[in-house]
Amino acid sequence: GDVTLEKVREHVWEMPREGDMNVPARVYASEPLLEEISDDKTLEQLRNSTELPGMTSHAVCLPDGHQGYGFPVGGVGAIDAEHGCISPGAIGYDINCGVRMVKTNLTYEDIEGKEEELVDALFANIPSGLGGGGVVETDVDTVTEVLDRGVDWALEHGYAVEDDLRHCEDEGMRPDADPGAVSAEAKNRGKNQIGSLGSGNHFLEVQRVTDVYREDVADAYGLTENQIVVLIHCGSRGLGHQVCTDYLRKIEKRHGDLLAELPDKELAAAPAGSELAEQYYGAMCAAINFAWVNRQLITHRTRRVFERVFGDSWETLEMDLLYDVAHNIGKKEVHEVSVDANGTAVPNDSPDAVDTENRELYVHRKGATRAFPAGRPEVPSAYRDVGQPVIIPGSMGAGSYVLRGGDRSLELTFGSTAHGAGRLMSRTQAKQEFWGGDVQDDLEEMNQIYVKAESGATIAEEAPGVYKDVDEVVRVSDELGIGDKVVRTYPVCNIKG
Ligand code: 5GP
Ligand code: MN
Ligand code: MN
Repeated sequence: GDVTLEKVREHVWEMPREGDMNVPARVYASEPLLEEISDDKTLEQLRNSTELPGMTSHAVCLPDGHQGYGFPVGGVGAIDAEHGCISPGAIGYDINCGVRMVKTNLTYEDIEGKEEELVDALFANIPSGLGGGGVVETDVDTVTEVLDRGVDWALEHGYAVEDDLRHCEDEGMRPDADPGAVSAEAKNRGKNQIGSLGSGNHFLEVQRVTDVYREDVADAYGLTENQIVVLIHCGSRGLGHQVCTDYLRKIEKRHGDLLAELPDKELAAAPAGSELAEQYYGAMCAAINFAWVNRQLITHRTRRVFERVFGDSWETLEMDLLYDVAHNIGKKEVHEVSVDANGTAVPNDSPDAVDTENRELYVHRKGATRAFPAGRPEVPSAYRDVGQPVIIPGSMGAGSYVLRGGDRSLELTFGSTAHGAGRLMSRTQAKQEFWGGDVQDDLEEMNQIYVKAESGATIAEEAPGVYKDVDEVVRVSDELGIGDKVVRTYPVCNIKG
């Protein structure tokens, strides 16, 4: 489509408000990243999203942005929770897809020579793949309890310790969860998937810390050079997908009048205060809880595998959770926004800003990570003085990062930053460009990275070359002050669905 972008300053580009746009849009990117972002429908989708009623201040595209279902992955839409709407496509199908990092006190030297044994043991013990079971295979009643209680359920059943809850976004439980709003079909899909990676882009990766950028923050996070850590990336499996599908169909039907005014059917939204808005929010929060339990059960299994391979208890190996962050999520949050003389919310650095107001917003983060700075009450007490940890995976052949929520994130991005490197090409294109077996051999021979996957196609679809340059994405985040570099990690071994 036709979109104009004006440079506001370094890394900040604005699509001015025009036509049916309710607000302007902003892209936070360097010039090379902006060029990649301009290659697909991202900018058009970003522009479209500004027509959602109640979109506040500006729509956001982060440096890892690429096109998604109706709304960019790497996008943030802050929408008035009283007068606006909630849009499932701006949260994503994989509700609470996210990442957690588990620390260890092992160093790279402790693990050298054992990589293959470790990757085999992880692959044999962590359920993965499209179908497959989970760590727990259970019934609808138990699924309902998981949806309601989140990681607290895992604690009661011996899959978690108190400390795990304290190191998870929202302590692993959204109190607004409404299991009654989740369909029987969704619950059925969840029965055999609690504690499973799923397929494709989801993975478990053992990594070593290669670089420390902010010594004091790394100290507070308990991270040091050469340390072994584990990154777990997965979401709410078929259950979350079903919740998204169910509500998209219901909303399209019941709120056809709103849909008719939107530039893209995929932006289907329920007006704030409507029955479907409430039900979807409750069901989405329930799916969020499910995903947290999913990652917790994988953590439990991972600890068991390390115990076996290294012959020590996980407590002795200090396999504590650094943090668990969601990157596909919608949340009611209160943000201070700048307003113009008419009381309309405008970007915080707008020349028209005359005052500030606190607004309750549905913050839609799709392929975007919460990046709250020091002091914000939602940041767990262990990190409140330094800012929350933000985990940014790169690829199975590149670095990944731990950032901390930056001082300018609230002002620029509603407290958010990127969620990864972001895709450069579609899965179909990837399979034409890469051959799984070759990618796997190259990683092992040239980089000593050991990868195991259910299928070769998955390795091709996720080849390092299908992703943008994570170092560049993180550089932009750091320079903008929305998420500051703390450490960089590099893969040791990786399992995929
Ligand atoms: P998404 O949630 O959008 O599927 O993926 C998040 C990010 O994970 C991607 O943008 C990509 O940068 C990163 N990623 C994908 N596969 C891997 C992997 O195997 N290892 C690591 N470290 N990162 C990955
Ligand atoms: Mn996912
Ligand atoms: Mn994800």
